[in-house]
Amino acid sequence: MEKKDLQAKVAFLKGLAEGMEIEDSKQGRLLRGILDALEDFASRINELDQAHRELEEYIEEMDEDLSALEDNIYDGEDEDEDEDEDEDGDEEKQFVGVKCPHCHQTVYFEEELVGEGEEVTCPNCGVEFVVDENWDYDEEGTLVRSKKEQDQ
Ligand SMILES: [Zn+2]
Repeated sequence: MEKKDLQAKVAFLKGLAEGMEIEDSKQGRLLRGILDALEDFASRINELDQAHRELEEYIEEMDEDLSALEDNIYDGEDEDEDEDEDEDGDEEKQFVGVKCPHCHQTVYFEEELVGEGEEVTCPNCGVEFVVDENWDYDEEGTLVRSKKEQDQ
């Protein structure tokens, strides 16, 4: 608002000068020149003020974006922690009993480790074996190597 006041003041002074009918005198030309210069100043300040405001708004937006970005980063960390907790806790791991073909102890593995052709290590005797399609559940729900293969 101040910039408009500034231009209005200059315009008012120019009006006064015109009313004094001194335009053709030396003093009048000097006054006219000063008022023209003042008008240029007022106009230039107006432009600078506008540019300054735009820059201010731009910086405010950047500041908000930065804050949002920071929030996202911290939220992201929280989410990661939550996910880790889920993996450790909430997400139930299914264990399946497996009768070791070597020591014949029933040992337990995560369900996802068996049946995929992955080699597992018996925690009892330390021998590695693979639970594949030749294995079957017995009446107790324990995976045992099928007789067919045991006979081999
Ligand atoms: Zn074993």
